Amino acid sequence: MSFVPQLLAEFPEDGTTMKRPDFSAPTSLLELKHEYSKSPEGTMLIAGGQSLLPALFKGRSMPDKLIDIGRVAELRRLEFGSGNVFLGAGLTFTQILASKGATVLPGLVAALGYVGNCTIRNRATVGGSLAWADPRAELSLLLLVLDAVVVTERREFALADLYGEAGQNNLAPGEIIVGVRVNGCDAKKCEFLELMPRASAGRAVIGVAVCCDQLGSLRIAVSGLWKPQICASVVGCDLGAESLAESWLTDHCEAAAKLADIAFGWAYRRRAAAVLMTRAIESVRR
Ligand SMILES: Cc1cc2nc3c(=O)[nH]c(=O)nc-3n(C[C@H](O)[C@H](O)[C@H](O)COP(=O)(O)OP(=O)(O)OC[C@H]3O[C@@H](n4cnc5c(N)ncnc54)[C@H](O)[C@@H]3O)c2cc1C
Repeated sequence: MSFVPQLLAEFPEDGTTMKRPDFSAPTSLLELKHEYSKSPEGTMLIAGGQSLLPALFKGRSMPDKLIDIGRVAELRRLEFGSGNVFLGAGLTFTQILASKGATVLPGLVAALGYVGNCTIRNRATVGGSLAWADPRAELSLLLLVLDAVVVTERREFALADLYGEAGQNNLAPGEIIVGVRVNGCDAKKCEFLELMPRASAGRAVIGVAVCCDQLGSLRIAVSGLWKPQICASVVGCDLGAESLAESWLTDHCEAAAKLADIAFGWAYRRRAAAVLMTRAIESVRR
């Protein structure tokens, strides 16, 4: 049973600007593709609804039609094996955390553990999180540092290429995320750390993911300093953790618009990022 029709019954229609969208809930990927292709521009997929439903109710998204992907079994594929991991787009964070293989993807348990609260994790999905392209999202920060590949029903591409402007994804109209794949997990160590304000619903101020391969090369990704998340490999891996963190931050400081707000200014964020990054580098080098 889909949870969406019941919620749509509460939809604040005003007969003019706010019109209750049509709804369908296909049960296979084939049926989903067919439904979506009928009118890709005016249709939106709905997965956990945790981001989309508030936007709909506030009138920020106004699709003519919603397609619930929750009944499509092909989108819930979960494979942990021979060093590779595949996470189906329709899997919720709770389903992933409860699976036996969750620890195979380095950093996954830590990253998802930071997301919202258990109610959010029970609904939020892999595909919804990636497609919503929130620069604070833990899953995408982790998957960026692990060099993940997005699989849609028509192509495969590096996760870094999914993101355009902050809050936008580069999916084509009608394109469906089927899942995400990470190769060579057994050869990687990863640490995920966050600074979280006490009064938030789990939204991070700063997120840091650091990945180390068997040769000792590092990749670092940070959220909360600039509008988009930034991920880059590191040169000069022979430096100590603190110097490395400092030089990475200096190299990327001019990269994009700096984030700051009344509670967490730029200098505070940068210092917090340096501390978390140092700890994460020390942890993956141990
Ligand atoms: C109180 C609160 C706290 C939260 N805290 C956090 C947090 O700490 N960290 C965090 O990362 N997130 C947080 N979230 C966001 C939550 O994780 C989001 O719900 C999630 O990121 C979106 O997943 P969803 O399955 O709910 O997607 P939906 O809301 O259903 O959809 C989001 C978007 O993705 C599109 N979409 C969904 N599936 C697909 C697909 N397979 N292919 C293509 N497009 C698709 C939809 O069309 C829509 O545009 C929070 C949300 C709330 C309400």
